[in-house]
Amino acid sequence: MEQNIHFTYAEILILGPCTCKCFYCLGNEMTEASKQNQLHTDFKQWKNFDEFIIKASSLNIKKVYVSSVNSDPFIYDYLYELLTELRKHFLLVGIRGNAANLTADMYRCLDLCNEEVSLSLNSNVSSISEKIAGKHASYEWNNLMFYLDREYRLHSKDVNFKSSNPDRRFRVSIVVNRYNMPGILNFLENTLIYYDIISYVQLRRVYKYNNYPYFEEDQKAFDQLQDYVASVYEKVDEFKGTSIYEVSKTEDDYFDESTDIRHYNLRFSFWEDVFPPSSIRSFNYFTAGKISTNHLLVPGYEHDSAEPQ
Ligand code: SF4
Repeated sequence: MEQNIHFTYAEILILGPCTCKCFYCLGNEMTEASKQNQLHTDFKQWKNFDEFIIKASSLNIKKVYVSSVNSDPFIYDYLYELLTELRKHFLLVGIRGNAANLTADMYRCLDLCNEEVSLSLNSNVSSISEKIAGKHASYEWNNLMFYLDREYRLHSKDVNFKSSNPDRRFRVSIVVNRYNMPGILNFLENTLIYYDIISYVQLRRVYKYNNYPYFEEDQKAFDQLQDYVASVYEKVDEFKGTSIYEVSKTEDDYFDESTDIRHYNLRFSFWEDVFPPSSIRSFNYFTAGKISTNHLLVPGYEHDSAEPQ
């Protein structure tokens, strides 16, 4: 049956306890997944992993992301080896991880990625990060800042690295909530805008599969920010029905005697719902051994029948 489906990409979802405690975490809805932990298991021992690779190849899937719903790829013990292996089987390899765990040890892993590197954080203010995601998250902005700076210095001018990775791009992802919402535009306009290595920022609405009234306040914060932006900023593009905006600024370069004018801009979008399967569809492997074609990740693990199919 799955042979008739067009999959946009494959996704490997690392299962295990997370270092952060984001209050909105989707993992809190995954009772079954939370019993699993493959963080310290060599991927060669993961159940049905070979079958997943073979199936993805037979489905002609060229792109894979290493990601998670209740943990973080950056805390997987064999991440470097996994990415090295995936480069043999897929044309394009990307990753979605959390800045709280983006230590210098991770840089060589991210250098292996030749597709999107997506990094999420909650805030550039450590007390707010900590309030949202616990103490471990308080250094998330420092980690991201050093990594972006390193990328700019080492790779933005490295023609060989760039030409051999033409699809490599950087997304910064922020879940908008009651705590970080008031500072987000300021963070974009006065901080992130200077990192021209960032391809775009994705502002995400708290997503819940079940109805939890508690999160209405966070969803309202997202809606309020989105409405404000729509009333002030000009839409510059669109992606599958989602509006894309841009912050920009022009400054004198005080450090240059010619006082050149420098232009900066940064694109950002609002994400509020899972894209319909007719638009984007992933072929998913959960590291406990489940292969799922369900485009909804939580029910795909928690409720679908035992797999592989
Ligand atoms: S970093 Fe991701 S997986 Fe970990 S607690 Fe936060 S939202 Fe959940």
